Amino acid sequence: MSYKKFFPYFQNSTMTYLDNGATTQKPQSVIDSEIEYYTHYCANTHRSNFGDANKATIEFENTRKHLQQFINAKDSSEIIFTKGVTESINFIANSFAKDFKTVIISSLEHHANIVPWHMQNRTLGEGLEVVGYKENFAFDFEEFESLLQKNPNSFVSVTHISNVFGTINDIKKICTLAHKYDSYVMIDGAQSLAHTKIDVQDIDCDFFTVSGHKTFAPTGVGAIYIKQELQDKIAPYQTGGATIKSVTYEKSELLPSPYRYEAGTQNIAGVIGFAKALQLIDTIGYETIEKQEHTLYEYLHNELEKIEEVVLYNTTKDSVGSKSFNIKGLLHDDVGILLDKQKIAIRVGHHCAMPIMEKLHLKGTIRASLAFYNEIEDIDKFITALKKAISMLKD
Ligand code: PLP
Repeated sequence: MSYKKFFPYFQNSTMTYLDNGATTQKPQSVIDSEIEYYTHYCANTHRSNFGDANKATIEFENTRKHLQQFINAKDSSEIIFTKGVTESINFIANSFAKDFKTVIISSLEHHANIVPWHMQNRTLGEGLEVVGYKENFAFDFEEFESLLQKNPNSFVSVTHISNVFGTINDIKKICTLAHKYDSYVMIDGAQSLAHTKIDVQDIDCDFFTVSGHKTFAPTGVGAIYIKQELQDKIAPYQTGGATIKSVTYEKSELLPSPYRYEAGTQNIAGVIGFAKALQLIDTIGYETIEKQEHTLYEYLHNELEKIEEVVLYNTTKDSVGSKSFNIKGLLHDDVGILLDKQKIAIRVGHHCAMPIMEKLHLKGTIRASLAFYNEIEDIDKFITALKKAISMLKD
């Protein structure tokens, strides 16, 4: 079955889209729901009391409930809407996590989970520790445990799935180990929800960040899951309208979670659209999505492996979504230009992960990143175009 029929981009563009790690395409249902909001009941939420305003609030809150069930959070107060993973991480970095002596991250982090810690004047070995990796970029649990032994009561912030190599970290094991040493864990789930089922209670993380636009929802919307037990300990990162129970010239009294964390007018259409994206995943089912993506990823890997000039960095085992490689003797930028000329959408460069590039002595890679709507034919077109680009650049 072709899932592309749900996504109007594929009827309107001639590009072969393999840049899902950057953002995913949006289904018609998401686009329609945004149009519906703006054309039929555009009003602010949680404020006014007329019909359209009430409808907007109900739809907005329905997304919260939907996301709560979708990631198996215990209570809807644990779901806080943000602009995306970057804002979610910045929120916690600048509130709950800022006073921890040590923050522990992995080697495969996106800049979104590195720069906020540097902005707190943490440097390597001085407030910031980085866990190394083993073969195939596997998270080094021995090094992690030794860091936790030396630094109990740390704040651990790690990616679930690498946006560069598609490596999947065992986040449940990371949480168990961190909790053993009285540490808290935030998961960067930017690359998770489009590919795999998330159950925050089973993972037992303290924070889980979600990106809407990488999960078939509109841009500018995301969320953070905050474990209920922690809510009283977390100061809001921004405050203002909609966060308060009462304000006098003397003092402000905040509402409970989630409202105390959602200052100002939210991306209402985006949040409402997010529910439609989740609905599509519900309809297709993660089992189907995971199976389809595994087939595609393995095929992509095998086809790349057949090209003599291709340098791969990891095998397919325990990888999903993103696949990075280089071409011996050629610049990734040049390959990217020739792929674009042949209507192949991929990303070349450092993928907002400069530290791992530096560690591997690379300026960048060529990255193809998949979603469930991709087809074997897309990979065939990409491989044909890649071979052509190689032969043109080598001549
Ligand atoms: N973390 C990872 C692993 C990512 O891949 C990205 C985006 O590429 C981000 C964080 C930032 O996510 P957002 O665009 O939702 O802010």
